[in-house]
Amino acid sequence: MEGKRKIARIISRVFLLIVAVMDIVCAQTNHASQQKPNIIFIMSDDHGYQAVSAYSNKLIHTPNIDRIGREGAVMQNAFVTNSVCSPSRAVILTGKYSHLNGQRDNGTYFDGSQQTLPKIFKANGYRTALVGKWHLFSKPTGFDYWNILPDQGHYYNPAFIKMGKDTAYSGYVTDVTTDLALDWIEQNRDQPFFIMLHHKAPHRNWMPPQQYLREYNDREFPLPHNFYDNYAGREGLQRQLISMKEGLDVRYDSKVPCDTCAVSNVNDWAPAEFQREMEHMTPAERTAWDKAYQNEYKTFAQIKDKDHLLRWQYQRFMEDYLRCVRSVDDNVGRVLKYLDDKGIADNTIVVYISDQGVYLGEHGLYDKRFMYEESFRTPMLIRFPKAIQKNQQVDDFVLNLDVPPTLLDFAGITIPPDMQGESMSTVLQKKKVKEWRKEVYYHYYEKSFGATAHYGIRTERYKLIHFYDPGNSWELYDLKADPHEMHNIYTDPAYKETIAKLKEQLRKLQDKYNDKYDEKNNKF
Ligand code: CA
Repeated sequence: MEGKRKIARIISRVFLLIVAVMDIVCAQTNHASQQKPNIIFIMSDDHGYQAVSAYSNKLIHTPNIDRIGREGAVMQNAFVTNSVCSPSRAVILTGKYSHLNGQRDNGTYFDGSQQTLPKIFKANGYRTALVGKWHLFSKPTGFDYWNILPDQGHYYNPAFIKMGKDTAYSGYVTDVTTDLALDWIEQNRDQPFFIMLHHKAPHRNWMPPQQYLREYNDREFPLPHNFYDNYAGREGLQRQLISMKEGLDVRYDSKVPCDTCAVSNVNDWAPAEFQREMEHMTPAERTAWDKAYQNEYKTFAQIKDKDHLLRWQYQRFMEDYLRCVRSVDDNVGRVLKYLDDKGIADNTIVVYISDQGVYLGEHGLYDKRFMYEESFRTPMLIRFPKAIQKNQQVDDFVLNLDVPPTLLDFAGITIPPDMQGESMSTVLQKKKVKEWRKEVYYHYYEKSFGATAHYGIRTERYKLIHFYDPGNSWELYDLKADPHEMHNIYTDPAYKETIAKLKEQLRKLQDKYNDKYDEKNNKF
């Protein structure tokens, strides 16, 4: 009997010991997983750096986006590899240039079977989610949860596709997208998480939220000094169809009736398209909208000549665009406040970026695509209190291509060798880097809005661009003497040697990124 009791005591002690050891192991595992940083990747659509006050305070004050930089880093020289929506999104998902990830233009279905950032995070114990704009057409892969806008989505009371099922939400798209993201984080933050929060705004046709319908009515936005660019000496720009002179529609873009006026820019497709947008509003929203735009109707009716119309359309563009940006900034603020309120800000990486930059009247344009600075660059701000020092202005050349390796690096996950970007952790943490890139390679493919395929190189001083399909024309800019890229000096004999050197560097970059150019036949 005594023997049996002794055995029972021993078994019970061993059991308690096992429980105690298990507790320690579990606690350590939890601790380790808690150490992995959470990641909130916020990407807006067509948000130019000119409209972020961390970069320029001429147009708008964006205190919340700026806060990311103030408590982290503002990347002052951030570029994209292919300045258009779907390709840029694919670059960020894969860490590869367009010719390798297959997404060269907006007309391709993204191949979701390839290696992507969310898949890698998921395989490393992260919960993964995607909300908002997707624009890659195929079904998202690698996400535990996805809830996306169909195609471009709508600004008001938007339809979404939630894990393959059609659904719809009341409210303004930027608020709704943020709500969905915060709801998911709240339910999933017991594990490290990676969420891609993709705003539709401030993409064309720039429909502001109700609370900002009258914002900036008292402002007059001065025309950029090169608004009346005549595109002399630049064949690529001469072909474009995104000049504000021809491209913007009075009803769809400027949002006034156009049938009562002698001068009007109207496209056949635009009235029906605009009507579809307006139909998403509730009657109360529509009434408030019409009331707010009454004064615009009146001003429009007084317009007598084409140049006045153009200047007025620029003003309308800026007002609505910035109203949309204002709402994006408010919602970035909501995300940052949520992290503070929950006490998880320190261990959460927040990235703010746009899929690419955009022209806000510079060169008289309103879109993107070209390798000129305004659309080649993107705002990029990164905050990670635990590892990134505050208040940094980073001047090194960084790319959207660098985002995936950077995030993996901060999460302590091995960067796949076939990713083509570099981890920015070195430049962000001021570690000595032997050789950080001194030049950037760009390649744009899509033939739309008059933009044609081109590639090029940007160094600190120069930019060399080759428009190759259709056509065959080169452009060279001395960015120090001509930062606004108005004078193509490619044919100036004084730059013969510079051009030869740049071409050599360019071909080396093409080799490095495995983007093979066949010079003899002028094709890739
Ligand atoms: Ca875009």
